[in-house]
Amino acid sequence: MANPRNGLPPLMIALGGLVPLYDHEPSTWLRDQVEDLRTRWEAGNTFACGHLVTGTAGVTFTALWRRDTVTCSPCAAVFRRPTDQACDRCEQPHDELHGLAHQVNGLVVLLALCPRCVRREVPA
Ligand SMILES: [Zn+2]
Ligand SMILES: [Zn+2]
Repeated sequence: MANPRNGLPPLMIALGGLVPLYDHEPSTWLRDQVEDLRTRWEAGNTFACGHLVTGTAGVTFTALWRRDTVTCSPCAAVFRRPTDQACDRCEQPHDELHGLAHQVNGLVVLLALCPRCVRREVPA
């Protein structure tokens, strides 16, 4: 693993590319998704890897295609994404989904968007 600190390499393999969004101003849509994740988390409906339970983890990972799971960096490989899934935003199947990592308060939210939805989230 090239960079075990942030756990991104296994995900890059899974997604065929994962672009970290630093200091990203999320769209209303993405803000709503993060809110949904936190609501699930606080309701206790989320599976957390053992490292999070013992409080030894640094950054916490979750993914829009697997909202019931949060992990530490090394365990983030569980978010390996099935190739046949649709865009996380418009829910349309697309051959060329782009993996994005949105960071907010120590939480890294992974999402995969089609080119059109990438442009909605990250205007050029
Ligand atoms: Zn873990
Ligand atoms: Zn889309």
